[in-house]
Amino acid sequence: MSQILPNENRPTPTIEDYLAIIYVMQRDGEEVIAARLAESLEVSPPTVTVTLKRMERDGWITTEGHKGISLTDSGCEAASTVIRRHMLTEWMLARVLKVPWSHVHAEAHHLEHAISGEIENSMRTSLDDPQLCPHGNPLPGYEYVIAGWAPLTELAEGQQVIIRRIHETAEDDPDLLDFLEANGIVPGVQAQLKKILPFNNTITLQVGGHEVTLGFSTARFIFVEAM
Ligand SMILES: [Zn+2]
Ligand SMILES: [Zn+2]
Repeated sequence: MSQILPNENRPTPTIEDYLAIIYVMQRDGEEVIAARLAESLEVSPPTVTVTLKRMERDGWITTEGHKGISLTDSGCEAASTVIRRHMLTEWMLARVLKVPWSHVHAEAHHLEHAISGEIENSMRTSLDDPQLCPHGNPLPGYEYVIAGWAPLTELAEGQQVIIRRIHETAEDDPDLLDFLEANGIVPGVQAQLKKILPFNNTITLQVGGHEVTLGFSTARFIFVEAM
């Protein structure tokens, strides 16, 4: 168990995971329903139902109204905190410990629950207050930074782009991250959309002298800036 200050009133690691996923779904304008949470968290629907009841009782979420599940103010604050600590941890692992880009998410996912407010502040200062995580996803409050970036699936053939962001959903797939890193598809890299084959659901990118073909199901999680 992590050292938790008694006055911090902090949710358990499990609840923090739920809060972070609900925050991201809400941010993306998706409907938050138990079935989708079960899928994302890889747990059974009955487990999700029980946990959601507990979260509602404890004031983190509300299920009133017809908008499905939504975060209360304290739920939103707790979610923002754990997401921020996760992303700062990713940077610390990448910059200080030189952990490969494709591995920092999985490592940070364990460590994020043990970061105190004091450590978070030191991390923020020593990492120069980042607005995005190493995958290009925004720290809470910096959503405006990503507003002009579009998923690869929305661009036209021939378009030159800069890779900017690999969505949180894709961060959860270690094999996909390994593939992207091995092929140089990481934030800051220039690429060109060589070929789009809608009947095949594929997009071929030219990246640094080689071509890489991605399925639409992967391409929709890769956000780019058109040049
Ligand atoms: Zn992450
Ligand atoms: Zn990240």
